[in-house]
Amino acid sequence: MAEKKKLDLNRRDMPKQPPHIRRRNFNEVALGYTPELAVVEAKRCLQCKKPLCVKGCPVEIDIPGFIKCIADEDFAAAIRVLKKKNVLPAICGRVCPQEEQCEKTCVLVKKKASSAIGRLERFSADWEAAQGPVEIPEIRPPTGKKVAVVGSGPAGITVAGDLVMLGHEVTMFEALHEAGGVLTYGIPEFRLPKAVVRREIDYLQKLGLKLVANYVVGKTKTLDQLLEFYDAVFIGTGAGLPWFMEIPGENLNGVYSANEYLTRMNLMGGFKYPRSSTPIKRHRRVAVAGGGNVAMDSARTALRLGAEEVYIVYRRSRTELPARLEEVENAEEEGVVFHFLTLPIRLIGDDKGWLKEIECLRMELGEPDKSGRRRPVKIEGSNFIMPIDAFVVAVGNGPNPLIPNTTPDLEVTSGGNIVADPKTGKTSIDKVWAGGDIVTGAATVILAMGAGRLAARSMHECLTGEKLLTTGTEKGLGEGEEESER
Ligand code: FAD
Repeated sequence: MAEKKKLDLNRRDMPKQPPHIRRRNFNEVALGYTPELAVVEAKRCLQCKKPLCVKGCPVEIDIPGFIKCIADEDFAAAIRVLKKKNVLPAICGRVCPQEEQCEKTCVLVKKKASSAIGRLERFSADWEAAQGPVEIPEIRPPTGKKVAVVGSGPAGITVAGDLVMLGHEVTMFEALHEAGGVLTYGIPEFRLPKAVVRREIDYLQKLGLKLVANYVVGKTKTLDQLLEFYDAVFIGTGAGLPWFMEIPGENLNGVYSANEYLTRMNLMGGFKYPRSSTPIKRHRRVAVAGGGNVAMDSARTALRLGAEEVYIVYRRSRTELPARLEEVENAEEEGVVFHFLTLPIRLIGDDKGWLKEIECLRMELGEPDKSGRRRPVKIEGSNFIMPIDAFVVAVGNGPNPLIPNTTPDLEVTSGGNIVADPKTGKTSIDKVWAGGDIVTGAATVILAMGAGRLAARSMHECLTGEKLLTTGTEKGLGEGEEESER
């Protein structure tokens, strides 16, 4: 009889920069597993016959399979297994909300010791990168079909990668001067180093992807004009239009959307001023409105820019925070102060038009709303003032209306998201597909990738008539969320 495996409930921590040091630098916070730690962690996996973790993964990676390879110290095999289902393991290993997906369904979760799947995924991808140039896989012979991909975020990257491998000629159009979407302009360097994103884009270019930056579809050329040159088009333009709170004072100096704040830092290198030519003002007391990953990223960025006091102002309680728990804990360790059940209602400026304080109201929690979270209710008369000189609004983003506005036949929802078939990604226009945040509303990297994979398969089928085997990534297209606060 096979010997029963002894449970090891000691989930291995990943080494991190200490909080007092990292709060003042932009280097990556988490340092990754060493090979020794990775092997020990991998050996904790129970190798379930019916692995629930795979069910929790939106792209259905063979999780026990890649972990077994690590446990056997065959790291090259581990990355091969991962890449069968996930083209961006170094990125997903860093930013996927595993605690809500694969790790949540791991059987060890009941003992509060689920396998550290994300950390092991990251380890495998980083190990591969450290070995030198990645092998170029076999690409199918050219089909003679031309595809345009609009937007270079995770949805666009996945579509482009899959279609290049299938032998199509793919051109990716990106409005900004650097590719990567939110991975490049939104998520800060200390959580996702830009070199990791660049590595993935470079790899696609080596496979044959043509990248055209500084090209705004809807302005430089319309979608209809692209369709004159391409056999198929994929729209993966994300949800990059920031929402504001629509409270008095939002046009004061010192008030930013999180998008502007983070883009100035990540894409324009504001933190490197004067080495970079785009400065960002150093504020002393910064408040960030919101409770998602975007809010955490903004608050932690403010600390690194030298702010003395940084606050998260959130209208619900800690339990409802939509940000990843790991990032909330990192923010707390670094010194970000949380004001829960607090709603900013007015921004107050000085006589020169600079923000000097914010007026807030205390809230209490009522009945659950459509999102399942308890609705925040105002406590009348509980107003108070906080002295603040920068206010970052991180309460969500919507879709950019540029393409729908210049493409009359493209069907969109009342919220402006493109309507796409959940099984194929097909839109209301022939030869046009869409996926990622532009369809679902602000969501996650892995869901955008899942949508990209689904669309690539459908596009290939329409272009060639060949039906590809399904890979289970149909979960990629979901319903839009009522309130994102991601
Ligand atoms: P995007 O990544 O938004 O990419 C769209 C691209 O299209 C952009 O580069 C844009 O410039 C380009 N574009 C737009 N319009 C045009 C046009 N007209 N012509 C040409 N190009 C155009 N998710 C997680 O899973 N984990 C996290 O930890 C996490 N943290 C986040 C932190 C921040 C600050 C933000 C903003 C988001 C975060 N997310 C996180 C969400 C995640 O990044 C997104 O869900 C994901 O990037 C969506 O991918 P996408 O490809 O649909 O769009």
